[in-house]
Amino acid sequence: MVRPKKSLGQHFLKDQNIAMQIVDALEIDSRQSVVEIGPGTGVLTQYLLKRDIDLKVAEIDRDSVAHLKKHFPQLKKNLIEGDVLKMDWNGFAEKTFHVIGNFPYNISSQIFFKVLEHRDKVDQVVGMLQKEVAERIASDKGNKVYGILSVLLQAYYDIELLFIVPPDVFFPPPKVMSAVIRLKRNKTERLDCDEKRFKAVVKQGFQTRRKTLRNALKSLNLPPSITSMKLLDLRAEQLSVADFVFLTQQIEKSDG
Ligand code: SAH
Repeated sequence: MVRPKKSLGQHFLKDQNIAMQIVDALEIDSRQSVVEIGPGTGVLTQYLLKRDIDLKVAEIDRDSVAHLKKHFPQLKKNLIEGDVLKMDWNGFAEKTFHVIGNFPYNISSQIFFKVLEHRDKVDQVVGMLQKEVAERIASDKGNKVYGILSVLLQAYYDIELLFIVPPDVFFPPPKVMSAVIRLKRNKTERLDCDEKRFKAVVKQGFQTRRKTLRNALKSLNLPPSITSMKLLDLRAEQLSVADFVFLTQQIEKSDG
């Protein structure tokens, strides 16, 4: 047994059926590369190892690593010890790879920002996370939890909230409900606007989400041709990915 550490967001899944369902949710062909984040004692790992895939696991906790080495010696060099946020994700696979895990909830948003950074390599993600964060990521415009991660991720991924998981299937039980989501890379290779600018506009827009975009984007010193646009009467949460792309295009044009 590994004694769970709160600081590492360790909540070990006890329910084998849910573990199987999570692993089955990965809809990929055989021989593809998969990285499991935070395998812990290996409840998902055991089922992943039964699939015909090229599996790597990334775990920060020494005790868990020792446990994994003992119970899954076949992992060998594919067991990477360390902080997944500090690892070189390009080194995970030569071509594309998929990500899976019962994520440490304290860093789940950061994991998704890493996914975004590596969107040209990360093809599919199946992750369990805090229900609120899962809902935020999967929500559509107009929803009050729709935010920065929703827009940025939905620009490149098709996202489904698969199922909700109650606290009592974990040891120790977390204080929150959990949910499993799946992200599949969409066909958009590049947005039709400067992608850095797009990200900046989205971030700034949501910084003060109660304000209209006209006010929220004040610090960008936009010219009157932009600030007079009807679209800026809206709040960031009312804009789709396409609306944000359009707005970014207009801002670029106004730069001359
Ligand atoms: N997959 C296991 C454990 C989930 S708990 C299960 O379902 O039972 C989250 C796991 O992520 C823990 O094993 C924890 O040690 C690991 N973890 C936490 N922070 C991490 C980090 N920065 N990098 C890699 N693993 C991390």
